[in-house]
Amino acid sequence: MYISETRSNLSNKFQDILDGKKVDTPLVGTATTSAILELMDISGASRPEADRDPEKMVKLASSFHTVARFEVIRIPFDVTVVGEALGCQVDIGTKARTPSIITHPFDKDPSEFNVPADLLERGRIPVVMEAISILKNDQGLEAPLVAGVEGPADLASYLCGIKSFLKLTVKKPEIAREIVEKCVDACIVCANTYLHSGADAVVVADSLSSPEMIGPDAFRNIVKPALIRFNEKINDHSILHICGEVDSIIPDMLECGFNAISVEENVKDLEYIINSAHRNNTAVIGNVSTADTLYRKAPEDVRKEAFKCLDANIDILAPGCGLAPETPLRNLLAMVEARDKYAVKKF
Ligand SMILES: [Zn+2]
Repeated sequence: MYISETRSNLSNKFQDILDGKKVDTPLVGTATTSAILELMDISGASRPEADRDPEKMVKLASSFHTVARFEVIRIPFDVTVVGEALGCQVDIGTKARTPSIITHPFDKDPSEFNVPADLLERGRIPVVMEAISILKNDQGLEAPLVAGVEGPADLASYLCGIKSFLKLTVKKPEIAREIVEKCVDACIVCANTYLHSGADAVVVADSLSSPEMIGPDAFRNIVKPALIRFNEKINDHSILHICGEVDSIIPDMLECGFNAISVEENVKDLEYIINSAHRNNTAVIGNVSTADTLYRKAPEDVRKEAFKCLDANIDILAPGCGLAPETPLRNLLAMVEARDKYAVKKF
């Protein structure tokens, strides 16, 4: 097989981790958004161009491996690509400001929404496809590449507006469910295309599924069935990232059938999460604080927090959530150093 013959050690290790196999040391990298200003300067690829031009996206993504020494990298660098392709307008942002959704085309009548037949030709989806293909096929990127799609609850909130969608989940859950199912159809189409283009795994990032946002009951009744269907239709490795204190929905997240879950620093009990996940043959990615430690503390603090994750048996040491653009490069390098030191100490 072409793929297994050319697959790098890092890719093999990544696949093993996602297959629930034991590996000697954890990988360091990210499955969440990660464009930082210092790497934009070093790579010569800044946003907004790095979000919209495949060559620039490739340059910035590569720098996470060659400069920050990350062993798992993720594109795109924002969470509006699928929303934009579904018809939402996007503020493309600036070098230091991440793109955001500014219009909700189905706020008046959510039942009008259907996934466009030409979805894969719309917005920046072709840009992401091309960047994946250049990274994996033309450049033979050694590091595993994770391609991100917005999750179905996030997409539903983009299309309807967050307040309207949350209201629907309470007042008209059957309509909310219908929209979420259509949104997950879009996720499935994009994810399979990204995997086909060469991505090693796909991550579904659904911040609205956080218990602090949609609530555990609505997650179970409305979002979880869609995420289960997502995995029934994906023929490769998949990761689920949900923001916030997800402890109460961990069993449900695990039942969705992803190979790994990515959690952030606000979880209450990382050891409980990792133990539950490992019993389910699921890997855990996380969870060095992005809002606090990585953003504004010293490399020494990053190393301390990384050690805690490593002591808890994390499978891929990663930022807990999306990195702030101002996050210093030295703090990303401190994560890699921490893993290297830990590996020497422990193994
Ligand atoms: Zn998050």
